[in-house]
Amino acid sequence: MDQYVDVVLPIPLEKLFTYRVSAEIASTLKQGMRIAVPFGKSKIYTALVYRLHNNPPQAYEAKDIHEVIDTLPLVTELQLQHWQWIAEYYMCTLGEVFRSAVPGAFLLESETLVLKNTSRDIEEQLLNNQEFMILEALENKGSLRIREVSEILDKKTVLPILNRMMEKGYIELQETLHSMYKPKQIRTVRIHPKYKSEEALVSLLDELSRAPKQREVLLTLFQVQAETKKPMSTVELQKKSGTTAGIIRTLLDKGILEEEMIRTDRISFQGESDLLETPELSDFQRKSLDEIRGAFKEKDVVLLHGVTSSGKTEVYMKLMESVLSEGKQVLYLLPEIALTTQLISRLQQCFGGKVSVFHSKFSLNERVEVWNNVRKGAEKARVVIGARSSLFLPFSQLGLVVVDEEHENSFKQYDPAPRYHARDTAVVLASLHRAKVLLGSATPSLESFYNVKSGKYGYSKMDQRYGGVLLPEVHLVDIRDASRRKKMTGHFSDTLKKQIENTLNLGEQVILFQNRRGYAPIVECTTCGHAPQCPNCDVSLTYHQGRNQLRCHYCGFHELMQSQCKACGSSTLDTKGFGTEQIEKELEGMFPEARVGRMDLDTTRGKYAYEKIITAFAKQEFDILVGTQMVTKGLDFRHVNLVGIMNADSLLNFPDFRAHERSFQLLTQVAGRAGRTEKRGTVLIQTYNPGHNVLQQVVAGDYLELYREQMEQRREYHYPPVNRIIKISFKHREYNTLNEAASWFGKAMRNVFGEHVLGPEFPPVARIRNQYIKQLLLKIPREQSLSKTKNSIKRIENSFNAISWYRSVRVIYDVDYF
Ligand code: ADP
Ligand code: ZN
Ligand code: ZN
Repeated sequence: MDQYVDVVLPIPLEKLFTYRVSAEIASTLKQGMRIAVPFGKSKIYTALVYRLHNNPPQAYEAKDIHEVIDTLPLVTELQLQHWQWIAEYYMCTLGEVFRSAVPGAFLLESETLVLKNTSRDIEEQLLNNQEFMILEALENKGSLRIREVSEILDKKTVLPILNRMMEKGYIELQETLHSMYKPKQIRTVRIHPKYKSEEALVSLLDELSRAPKQREVLLTLFQVQAETKKPMSTVELQKKSGTTAGIIRTLLDKGILEEEMIRTDRISFQGESDLLETPELSDFQRKSLDEIRGAFKEKDVVLLHGVTSSGKTEVYMKLMESVLSEGKQVLYLLPEIALTTQLISRLQQCFGGKVSVFHSKFSLNERVEVWNNVRKGAEKARVVIGARSSLFLPFSQLGLVVVDEEHENSFKQYDPAPRYHARDTAVVLASLHRAKVLLGSATPSLESFYNVKSGKYGYSKMDQRYGGVLLPEVHLVDIRDASRRKKMTGHFSDTLKKQIENTLNLGEQVILFQNRRGYAPIVECTTCGHAPQCPNCDVSLTYHQGRNQLRCHYCGFHELMQSQCKACGSSTLDTKGFGTEQIEKELEGMFPEARVGRMDLDTTRGKYAYEKIITAFAKQEFDILVGTQMVTKGLDFRHVNLVGIMNADSLLNFPDFRAHERSFQLLTQVAGRAGRTEKRGTVLIQTYNPGHNVLQQVVAGDYLELYREQMEQRREYHYPPVNRIIKISFKHREYNTLNEAASWFGKAMRNVFGEHVLGPEFPPVARIRNQYIKQLLLKIPREQSLSKTKNSIKRIENSFNAISWYRSVRVIYDVDYF
């Protein structure tokens, strides 16, 4: 009798799709295994087995599956439960979760492009016929689609073959989505393993007795490796043994030494997997650790609220240590941008070879490697550090999730679906594993603090910095007054200018924060008022002086800066507002001696650009760092004694209900970069509005007051964390269609939810990449059932889609929109 298998396809289908399988094959299938299935006219997808049964589908004739790919499940039962939660909670399909959860290399489909892995020498005699044919064809054509491989082998079922070739490293997939990230590599040397034995070594040293220089190199290498067990870089060996590159070359040529390229982020733990040492905690850190441990007896989630530089990382490490000693896995989540070598090497110093990094910038193969290690529960992936997508790894014995900088909004995935919040999704993941979650921040999100207040989360506070270092002094500088009294040079008040000067004279460093990149956000004609707009988006273009361009920050459109107004032709174009680039220029004028660096999206596009700037600044290769939000993220610089915020008002006035909370977080975090050693740092915040409550709260470091005041407003206007919100966006190329469709939806929503519906309205930028956008906001009281609410919305969407004119309008749900 035929059997049927329901599968998850990596596309946005509401329902599982059913295929037919023979009883024989069915007996080999398990939930979570991959199979290849035909879909539509000619497509082949990699699908995931969900369940087996005997019921043919009612609505369509089930097709036969193509082939079985795995012999063991790729995805665990727990993962599938987790995905199910994500799909339901964030209102997307299981297929969308599947697609974003597994590394693309696991999702071969008919259109995937396969390439030869050129970084490897492949020994031909090891290849079987099919492998040989594929590689030969790749040699000739450069790349092949999967269906072309099918034609070459005259075989329908090629995915298993390709998967095996990928595992062996013969082929790679083309990565169009990710710019390939090649972490910095260094050349290391070691003694050839054939000299491992005592005997072999002694005779080698004898042999070399007439080549004392070579012998010396070998002995040095020995001595160092006996101490550190780390691989040694070629350069270091040359220095330490006082030899030349030539001598090392000779040893390599003779086969006495071996060379290997090692990624710098892997260097410190090669070959070692023991627990090394975690730092000794200070008294207040120990107290906090005890509190957290105590709280974990009753609660699954604890918030560690520790001021900047209080040593939260050290507390995490202690907890991680005990979880590891129980043989469990730890996930260390942090915002993508905070995933720096600084932090990685700190963790590696403690946990040695147990640390794996999961990074979206890593190649597909590297991500597959981490995936497999986590699934096997391998020693080298006991601790996984990664950004939000590392939540999807196949943990088997998860014991602890640390969410560092839990307030960061980049934990929320914005596009595409699933639009999940990594912190909240981590809490669910942990509960499936009966694991604990530790949230850490100097400026907790209102959501998390609210959960503490309501007793759902435990709490521990550290309000001093490690080593008795004082928190920086924060001062407001009134620039309205300063401009009136002509005490401004460009965008610098005399106060800020003077402080920069003092700091530089002491040989210390300065960070300047400006929330905008480019030179000036708006170019305007002073004669007719025309401002150049992006042709694809409803937004003004930003002037970038360095390239003399006008650029759109939404779609990337750019054109040459005009010398005359396009509307009236007069040459009275003026710039308004200012960005990082302009600050940099002004500094050059004021402090021609100072070395200035800039960190924003424009300067960090290259492969290692971000790391390079951080490292150079940490090494004091330049004196002033000008940057956007990027400079706020958990960086630990030793010599920064002044932080200047060029203009706090643009943050405070941002049109979003979270603007004040975010301003507090951002300003406090940037301020926290100052004075991380003995000397007390200074922070100057320039503003037109020094009386603003939020600024006063920043100066006083008064989080509780911020919380109290903001919660009052959230209560009054029914925003999170008091209510939940779902944002529904509509997108379409035609203005009228969009407008009508959105109003129809809005009306239907209002019939059900009454005054809890806001909009539909155009967002501040109402057209992006030629798509018009309108948005609805639904506020859901805590006591209202979330699942019923979502069902009602889905019903409305079904009726909406029944109207043919509306069907082409994209409807996008963003639950707990951030
Ligand atoms: P946070 O994450 O709370 O901002 P960090 O963990 O970065 O703080 O700690 C700030 C600095 O203090 C780091 O350079 C860290 O190495 C040092 N530090 C904190 N606690 C200890 C400790 N117990 N022993 C040694 N150094 C510590
Ligand atoms: Zn004009
Ligand atoms: Zn644009």
